[in-house]
Amino acid sequence: MVPKREVYLDNSASTPVDPRVIEAMLPYFGEVFGNSTASHRQGHRGESAIEDARETIAGILNCAAREIVFTSCGTESDNLAVRGAAWNARRRGILTRLITTPVEHSAVINTMRQMRNLMDFEMEIVPVDKSGRVMTEAFRAACQRGGSIASVIYASNEVGVIQDLPLLSSIAHEYDIPFHTDAVQAGGQLSLDVNELGVDMLSLSAHKFYGPKGVGILYVKNGIQLEPSQSGGSHEDGRRAGTHNTAFIVGMAKALELAYQENEARLSHFAAMRDRLIQGILESVPGAEISGHPTQRLPSHASFVIPDVDANALLMHLDMGGVCASSGSSCKTGDPEPSEILLGLGFTPSEAKCGLRLSVGLHTTADDIDYALDVLAASVAKLRRLQGAPVS
Ligand code: PLP
Repeated sequence: MVPKREVYLDNSASTPVDPRVIEAMLPYFGEVFGNSTASHRQGHRGESAIEDARETIAGILNCAAREIVFTSCGTESDNLAVRGAAWNARRRGILTRLITTPVEHSAVINTMRQMRNLMDFEMEIVPVDKSGRVMTEAFRAACQRGGSIASVIYASNEVGVIQDLPLLSSIAHEYDIPFHTDAVQAGGQLSLDVNELGVDMLSLSAHKFYGPKGVGILYVKNGIQLEPSQSGGSHEDGRRAGTHNTAFIVGMAKALELAYQENEARLSHFAAMRDRLIQGILESVPGAEISGHPTQRLPSHASFVIPDVDANALLMHLDMGGVCASSGSSCKTGDPEPSEILLGLGFTPSEAKCGLRLSVGLHTTADDIDYALDVLAASVAKLRRLQGAPVS
């Protein structure tokens, strides 16, 4: 059955590439194709496009151009930050403890787990409160015990909560611990001024802000020592080997520039759509509870626990009705595992199987939201009837 309408509410997973970004990228697939490290004129053209992109991005992050490292995605940026800092600490024979939180993306937390399981690093996961905010005193106590890196996500992909990075980074620095943030969801929405945030490393991924998939950034503060996690040539000052993806780097810089030039208008549109969605769901879906902080959350992000509804079945019903949504990270196929992030916020294992994430974007309209609300309310009522759960 073809749904009446298609409504895309999964902008936290990925966004479409802005046509202005595509236009900026096009010359670098054909006319300007040289390897940016080559010493001839074709190479120089590529190199100069990359260095212009680096300057543009550095301007937005308020840092020096050489503090920007280009990577292949947000996952690689997170891996480089965590592995790079930890390996460097081990090489220098200093403490090898990794500090993080239960609301991290798997790119951070699974990298740390691998380092713990295979390389005997210690790992400490600092608790969060019910809204998903890191418990400051617990974070301080973890830092007091020492560490080679602390990594705290800027804004959660699953529950949208925004962390107080200036406070947390200043605590880490009291104990000489380098501080990394995964800003992949924050990119294009929240301030990325690394001096205000006080961070030593910051990860971004272009496809979350209307740029292409498969290209990312790691900001690395001058003086922070990293071992490369991808070794080879001397690209990116020896921090990340591999031929530059010139077209995608140019596109990423253009997308980030547009996001901050148009930031005010974008955020007010996102927030208006998100609030219509949140209010509508709380009114029309009995038992729905917001997950994450009610106000300290990404302007584009709405997330809920909808009790007595299997998340996979709900996503399937929404999709049949034309609504593209997500439940978070763990409910793709088969029996949903409880979300580790919802468990971290204190939801019970059965509630943690009932997550729903809806994320709005530049193209979302009020009609889209109203249509999605109707499909959602009908899907929840139907599933509860089928599962024999209370409908209201
Ligand atoms: N970190 C966060 C918070 C994310 O939401 C994502 C992607 O969903 C990533 C990292 C990984 O980024 P990429 O898809 O570019 O590998």
